[in-house]
Amino acid sequence: MRAKLPFMPGLRRRADHCTRCGNPFSRDATAYMVEETVVRDEVGVPPQVVVVQRETVPVCDSCVTAAERAAATVSAACKGCQRLLRADAHHISFVCSIRCQQEAIW
Ligand SMILES: [Zn+2]
Ligand SMILES: [Zn+2]
Repeated sequence: MRAKLPFMPGLRRRADHCTRCGNPFSRDATAYMVEETVVRDEVGVPPQVVVVQRETVPVCDSCVTAAERAAATVSAACKGCQRLLRADAHHISFVCSIRCQQEAIW
């Protein structure tokens, strides 16, 4: 359980940023959509309880694992920002972030 860690870093979703390293995606970078444990909710200041869940999130070229890269045989353009997304057939999505989901033209 991550909730027992003193600083509870946790991974957080942020539009246009790699979920693992937190670096912004460059304009033409490919986002790999992978399953990762991310923070969904925090309770208390500083957080006493951190709620995490498994989500499909974008990671950058430096953070994708060899196995994830090899499995990422499907590609799609994000319907919000047009970024190229790659993933396996199970994790491919049509938006790279919650923000893009709101901005997407379906
Ligand atoms: Zn990264
Ligand atoms: Zn997007």
